[in-house]
Amino acid sequence: MYNKQIEALPLEKLRALQSERLVALVTRLYRDVPFYKKQLDDAGIQPGDVKSIADLQRLPFTRKTDLRDNYPYGMFAKPMEEVRRIHASSGTTGKPTVVGYTQNDLDIFDEVVARSLMCAGARPGMKLHNAYGYGLFTGGLGMHGGATKLGMAVIPVSGGMTERQLTILQDFKPEVMCCTPSYAQTLSEEFAKRGIDTRDLAVQYAVLGAEPWTEAIREQVEAGLNVTATNIYGLSEIIGPGVSQEDFEEKGTGSYVWEDHFFPEVVHRDTGEPLPYGEEGVLVFTTLTKEAFPLLRYWTNDICSLHYDKNAKRTHVKMSAIKGRADDMLIIRGVNLFHTQVEEVIHEFDFLSPNYKLIVEREGTMDTVKVEVETTKGVDYQNNTFKTQLREKIKNTIGLSMDIELKSPGSIPRSQGGKLSRIEDRRG
Ligand code: ADP
Repeated sequence: MYNKQIEALPLEKLRALQSERLVALVTRLYRDVPFYKKQLDDAGIQPGDVKSIADLQRLPFTRKTDLRDNYPYGMFAKPMEEVRRIHASSGTTGKPTVVGYTQNDLDIFDEVVARSLMCAGARPGMKLHNAYGYGLFTGGLGMHGGATKLGMAVIPVSGGMTERQLTILQDFKPEVMCCTPSYAQTLSEEFAKRGIDTRDLAVQYAVLGAEPWTEAIREQVEAGLNVTATNIYGLSEIIGPGVSQEDFEEKGTGSYVWEDHFFPEVVHRDTGEPLPYGEEGVLVFTTLTKEAFPLLRYWTNDICSLHYDKNAKRTHVKMSAIKGRADDMLIIRGVNLFHTQVEEVIHEFDFLSPNYKLIVEREGTMDTVKVEVETTKGVDYQNNTFKTQLREKIKNTIGLSMDIELKSPGSIPRSQGGKLSRIEDRRG
């Protein structure tokens, strides 16, 4: 553990710390951010009404539209003289949101990324191949700061220029790498294409995030790069990467949310009602300690569930892998669909690889989905039996009839370094 005292803090002590921090946060927000003063006034809540973390559920949500309405700096709680860095979201779903950090915020950012890296298997003295994009995107600089704090040597490769990535991975001998899961797929395939045996690389751990992914991709990347791959989650509005992280020895059991800083809730996507542990809904975060850009009950739009894992090394709550963003959810003939559900079905067939795309079209009043998916090497992609098997399995597990097109290996676009969109919506 990077910070044993906090990561293994008994739950009642964690709650006390969160309560203390929430009370201070609400006082600061009411005093320093006009948007929050109005929101709390409108809700009939005064800072003194909030006494513990249990009162959080009474407070209003903050939505992405609120951030856009206050673009660029309207939500900042500190004067610019105290801001030391500005980032923005990737803008995946529209105009990017702008976020700021005080020195203290940057220190917290480093701390949670250092915790995350250690949780992923990294140790001081190791080298990090950082293939997240450097720049306004929080991935590159976020991982960089945390790795430095942990005592690693950072190789700031940034995303893209795949040929160079392969050379550096071979020659610089990093033990840890980080990038998006789709770019890890690309790197693994490019090594294979060149006949390079990845068992000769020094890299042992891959810390992958910034987009949804499932066990199908984990299997492909772990085998292809000869690494242990874990999930890192985050979003610029909350801090960047390092909001949560999966432990390399507890793979598949969810990612620890560093809840001393980021208090998570999962709520019903239509009503906003808090949901019990284990139930899937929209993830909502309150930034308990941030100074420049603190948020109350921020509606991430990401779909997952929360649970406490009694057998885990740490006491913090775990979140399941993100199924997708609520606004990326397709509603096809009344059935809700995330692309990760199709990815999970693809995983069940040895003749398929997790390189796929969903194409959504409208025929009259009917929406249709076509799955384009590559077969594995050496498999006949024109084989109709394979197509039928996949169609049947999707129908039985997801409840939708989809057109299937099997494609030859390498024919579906790959990540060039960043996030990869796996849905092509042609509905106009
Ligand atoms: P944008 O929302 O514009 O893409 P960010 O770069 O801040 O901006 O990305 C944050 C979003 O990326 C999250 O809200 C989530 O949808 C997605 N994301 C980040 N990490 C993961 C992950 N490990 N699994 C699934 N989705 C992730």
